[in-house]
Amino acid sequence: MRLVAFSLILFLTCFYGFSQSQQASAVTGLDHKLKSGIFVKGLPTIGITLPNGTKTKELKDIKASHWDTNRFNPFKDEILTYPFKLTFDDSLYAAPVNKDMVITSRYGWRWGRAHQGIDIDLITGDEVVSMLPGIVRFVGYNSGHGKSIIVRHFNGLETTYAHLSKYAVKVNDTVQMGELLGKGGATGNARGSHLHLIVSYKGTPIHPEYLFNFTKNKGTIRAKEIWVTKTWTRPYFHSSRQRSKLELLKSKDEALASLTKEKEIYVVKKGDTLSRISRRNGVTIRTICVANNIKTTSVLRIGQKLVLDL
Ligand SMILES: [Zn+2]
Repeated sequence: MRLVAFSLILFLTCFYGFSQSQQASAVTGLDHKLKSGIFVKGLPTIGITLPNGTKTKELKDIKASHWDTNRFNPFKDEILTYPFKLTFDDSLYAAPVNKDMVITSRYGWRWGRAHQGIDIDLITGDEVVSMLPGIVRFVGYNSGHGKSIIVRHFNGLETTYAHLSKYAVKVNDTVQMGELLGKGGATGNARGSHLHLIVSYKGTPIHPEYLFNFTKNKGTIRAKEIWVTKTWTRPYFHSSRQRSKLELLKSKDEALASLTKEKEIYVVKKGDTLSRISRRNGVTIRTICVANNIKTTSVLRIGQKLVLDL
């Protein structure tokens, strides 16, 4: 009985907080910093029909699966099925660096390697804030990323803030949208101070500009429902130096239709030959040659991208 009463209080607190914040956004328009009291211990809002008939949202414990505060990526065993849908409660997010966001390198292929995040210019000591409300999953040093913080959000998305100089939060802290996480810097493998921002779902990085507007309409999320296909989780479809054509997929039908246009891309590794690639991927050498406009005698370069299916 006590548990029931407690749950009810918890639930009412959540709901009260949620309606408060909705009102606040409606009144001030751009005031997207949510007020405190919205999320309680990782349980965002609600899932029941209230006496007045209002249908509330589902209770979801974002710490239920793969909540590992010691590992940068605990999702190694996770296989995503495409396309998948991401939903956002709000249409706004907080800019991680509170100044004009200058993107110095985009999500995409860079120097023959995958750049799985975007680089946003900053000066060491600049504040870095959480883009969305959530819970801090990881705080620590991760080889090339240097001092990093990972926040898990209530739709399952995670945002990673790398090359930091200082931490202002600890793991399991609940953070609001726009709340200070730490200070920017150049730790790890960074050429000069900047924020390397990764947006990922179950360990798979997604093109951040596919979900969030960084320059035009800065601070807005592109849609409440966004469908993600492999095009948006594979850096080799994009270039770090050029903005991709960011065609938004807002429904499952659109996403499925776009899948037929997707091709599997293979990146040549050390020691690869056409026959080895053909054997290992079940595609004939002839098909590879035709699709990539190369000869059977062509020399392959490490990092070269090959289309594998026609
Ligand atoms: Zn980077």
